[in-house]
Amino acid sequence: MKIKSIETFTTRNLVFVRVTSEDGLQGYGQIAPYHANISALVLHQQIAPHALGADCDAIEALTAACIWEEHKFPGSYICRAVGGLDTALWDLKGKRLGKSVCELVGGKPRQVEVYGSSMKRDISPEDEAERIKRLQDTYGYGAFKIRIASNFGNDVDVYPGRSEQVVKAVRKAIGDKTPLYVDANSGLTPRKAIETGRMLAQYGVCHFEEPCPYTELEWTKQVADALDIPVTGGEQDTDLAQFRRMINMRAVDIVQPDICYVGGFSRALEVAKMAAAVGMTCTPHAANLSMLTIFTLHMVAAIPNAGTHMEYTIEQDAWTNNLFMEPLVVRDGKVQVPEGAGWGVTVRPEWLANADYQISE
Ligand SMILES: [Mg+2]
Repeated sequence: MKIKSIETFTTRNLVFVRVTSEDGLQGYGQIAPYHANISALVLHQQIAPHALGADCDAIEALTAACIWEEHKFPGSYICRAVGGLDTALWDLKGKRLGKSVCELVGGKPRQVEVYGSSMKRDISPEDEAERIKRLQDTYGYGAFKIRIASNFGNDVDVYPGRSEQVVKAVRKAIGDKTPLYVDANSGLTPRKAIETGRMLAQYGVCHFEEPCPYTELEWTKQVADALDIPVTGGEQDTDLAQFRRMINMRAVDIVQPDICYVGGFSRALEVAKMAAAVGMTCTPHAANLSMLTIFTLHMVAAIPNAGTHMEYTIEQDAWTNNLFMEPLVVRDGKVQVPEGAGWGVTVRPEWLANADYQISE
């Protein structure tokens, strides 16, 4: 069955993609959030010409071909655009076969344990500890992630001492048994990252994310080699060869592809497979409650090397409110993988009606 049209429903933060096959069946996907309107233009202008008329079911081959054909334009925007196409095609395939996407790749819809992921640095250690404790009591999150250092901060903390203060306060609030993750968002040089890692070990932190600027694989490897705490990363990367290097040189202990950044579900699975081949855990990045979190639920329910807890943001982003007919719910620290065909969710028609519309056919 061939691809007949590719439609986008665009806002600045968010774009949903609808692919229609020759027989009129439709699948929905999504482009990575933020400046998503630019990625939608890339989808129509650079990707649609390769995809229209192509076989709907040969998803991996098509996404690989799109990236190869556009090899003069590697990186973020091409991968975001391809991710929109890829995720719509997986939904279409699931709907055609009457199966959930996670079933298509060897999983089963089930309850997934999530970690509550804080996105904030502009919060005092006391307030962060208080809200995380409240969320633990209310929703039963089995683990949490908090922010340390500064985003690409070159060793400068938000203010001197904040990183240790927030780790100490949150550890005290959630107790010794709850797994605690931290994310440095590329904030540290190797020497400072290793020193920080030793501090984190004293508080039982079990996941040290993106300690060094993410392109500096050798720096990250120095940190991973020096510490016992697992060093993690990969959310920013889009090139599968870079992932292969990162995994094979053990720059990280846990790899974290983002389905929408890396170019879709197929490519994220490819990264998980590379990791599985060397016995490495894959804990995908999923930092907002758009369709990204739904794609990620399907992924972790299907791959054999998923981490114990999946990322689930604790922030309330207004632009992710009320997107789907089937709201996501955290209960006892778990979220159910939607059970319907495809991704198992329906984007609200009124959201689509209010977005900017474009079609390639
Ligand atoms: Mg991160």
